[in-house]
Amino acid sequence: LVRAVQVRKSYGSNEVLKGIDMEVSPGEVVCLLGPSGSGKTTFLRCINQLEDIQAGRIFVDGDLMGYKLKGERLHRLKDKEIAAQRREIGMVFQRFNLFPHMTAIDNVMEAPVRVQGRSRSEVRAEATELLDKVGLGDKGHAYPNQLSGGQQQRVAIARALAMKPKLMLFDEPTSALDPELVGEVLEVMRDLAGQGMTMIVVTHEMAFARDVADRVVFMDAGVVVEQGKPSEVINNPQHARTKDFLRRLR
Ligand code: ATP
Repeated sequence: LVRAVQVRKSYGSNEVLKGIDMEVSPGEVVCLLGPSGSGKTTFLRCINQLEDIQAGRIFVDGDLMGYKLKGERLHRLKDKEIAAQRREIGMVFQRFNLFPHMTAIDNVMEAPVRVQGRSRSEVRAEATELLDKVGLGDKGHAYPNQLSGGQQQRVAIARALAMKPKLMLFDEPTSALDPELVGEVLEVMRDLAGQGMTMIVVTHEMAFARDVADRVVFMDAGVVVEQGKPSEVINNPQHARTKDFLRRLR
């Protein structure tokens, strides 16, 4: 479903991604691990075109992201076309980024109503179902500041799912949460994985990676250092950099 080929990204003279190759199959859950600054967040942002890349190609469900090929040459897509590609991908950030002046259900309904122009009554039923699915069926009328961080993050997941994405990207979704709220968010993500959603998850939650990921990818300094089954990479890392990283986490 996702194919990244030799992706390079720089900020000024700082090359943050140095030729990333990655493939993710439909229904696969991939956890991206790596030290701070290794480029994990940047890579997620490149997948959904929040960042433009300097070299390489990214395909999602066969679509070349951000560009179209005219003859031999790549042409940047128009903003509108990029927005349309981005709509197929759900993203959940470290910070919940809910609209503070809208209730939970209005947050979930916002994109389908505003972007897709669907009727509120039709969308409301789906949004209610999604809130149920993340365990917040009774919180639809609460405003973000009346919800805990874990609840807000679950609303953010429901909001991303409302656009029926092909792919979900999670950028350290639990790292801004109090420890006692982490589990409820991971539980929702685990359910989603169980239902066959394709997911790329940047996380430092090793237990989650071990239990839920089909594959873990370890990145360091803008390259993929090693990847494999969680049990292999986490329990028996091959590269010194992976060993060092995992040792520090313990
Ligand atoms: P973390 O776990 O801390 O989020 P990460 O692996 O996700 O780390 P990135 O956030 O992708 O790493 O950052 C990789 C590098 O890119 C860092 O050196 C960072 O300073 C740099 N960087 C990220 N975003 C920008 C930006 N908008 N402008 C300039 N440099 C940036």
